[in-house]
Amino acid sequence: MTPERYAKILRVLSKRQPTLTVLMDQVNKPHNLSAIVRTCDAVAVLTAHAVPPGNGKPLEFEGNTFEATSGSAHKWVRVQTHTDTLETVRELQGQGVQVLATHLSQRSVDYREADYTRPTCVLLGAEKWGVADAAADAADGNIIIPMFGMVQSLNVSVAAATILFEAQRQRLAAGLYDTPQLSPEELARLAFEWGYPELAPKYRERGEAYPALDGDGQILG
Ligand code: SAM
Repeated sequence: MTPERYAKILRVLSKRQPTLTVLMDQVNKPHNLSAIVRTCDAVAVLTAHAVPPGNGKPLEFEGNTFEATSGSAHKWVRVQTHTDTLETVRELQGQGVQVLATHLSQRSVDYREADYTRPTCVLLGAEKWGVADAAADAADGNIIIPMFGMVQSLNVSVAAATILFEAQRQRLAAGLYDTPQLSPEELARLAFEWGYPELAPKYRERGEAYPALDGDGQILG
């Protein structure tokens, strides 16, 4: 790893927002998944969540599957998969995360009225069905992007980007990108995994801690 590469990895990790995430509920088109994860990377989401469509199938991103790597945004944004949307909503809420469902209902508000400086998960729905009523009801709030055209909804990746960049705007204003939100230990762990993707699994298989890096990202010792 070059010192420049290491500096970039540290710069990016120092802005990662472990308290901002999305839950993609059966988003089934690979190009939409890829676009959403790419936006997650841009606004510094650390981990995204997904309930894949079709029981037990791996998530498919544009041109490849979940496991594929080179250059894809999902190399930099962990996508944690789940089997049940409602359970995942409750799990996130149990961790103190407000879940905001993108869903039209009696209690929907304009997405700009929500406070994204709080730990937040944006729940996104499938192209055909949207967010299930049960999950939307369980959510802490329902948000919508106002539409004044003939068509009733946006593409899911466009909606995700619109909302996530509002979250970025609010978090920038609140100074949440100014200081690292990750603990020093987690930042060092991820810096090793991102900088040495071939070596990191070997350390894990052997049950060994990752080695320390010097200021240029070179392995010490
Ligand atoms: N027929 C679906 C429905 O009734 O909800 C339309 C789903 S839309 C094509 C796919 C997803 O994009 C939605 O579930 C939501 O996550 C997001 N979305 C699209 N337009 C939106 C809007 N105006 N406000 C908020 N989210 C929107």
